[in-house]
Amino acid sequence: MKNETEKKKLTVATISLAGCFGCHMSFIDIDLRILDLIKQIEFNRSPLTDIKRFTKHCDIGLIEGGCCNAENVKVLKEFRENCDILVSLGECAIMGGLPAMRNDIPLKQCLQEAYQNVSTSAHNKVIPHHQELPKILDKVYPCHQIVKIDHFIPGCPPNAEIIWQSLKQLISGEPQKINYEDFKYD
Ligand code: SF4
Repeated sequence: MKNETEKKKLTVATISLAGCFGCHMSFIDIDLRILDLIKQIEFNRSPLTDIKRFTKHCDIGLIEGGCCNAENVKVLKEFRENCDILVSLGECAIMGGLPAMRNDIPLKQCLQEAYQNVSTSAHNKVIPHHQELPKILDKVYPCHQIVKIDHFIPGCPPNAEIIWQSLKQLISGEPQKINYEDFKYD
């Protein structure tokens, strides 16, 4: 039977959409403070737990990466439905980040360049197309253009200290406060 402390634990889900996992790596850089964190929260759907589907409604969802394909949009909407507070973590989630560099180039031209024009492309030079492959969007969208986002944690990646402070504020219900000089872009 669970004790009182365990009953009050908040549930947190995380996901990487069109991101590089750098934001998750930075999250893990909170190091031993994760031991303090898991006294207050439990992780649900997340690459950190390898839980691939929500098993309960969550209090907080952390989103790394923007949306570059239909699967990203589907997963982001699932997070919106299953999390009370949704947080864009890092520049890719907030602005599209590096993947959004393709946004000024027509999608067809991007695919031709990636699969047909480069010297390292496969012999058949076919642009992958299969019903089970997620449809690539015309451009990369930041998360707040797809669903309502409640908080933003900037940086590429946000450093571990900022993630730690932001999470503590979210867990305690305090207003989120990040000093401009603490933003980090590598
Ligand atoms: Fe990677 Fe930076 Fe995007 Fe995070 S914001 S997923 S670290 S490129």
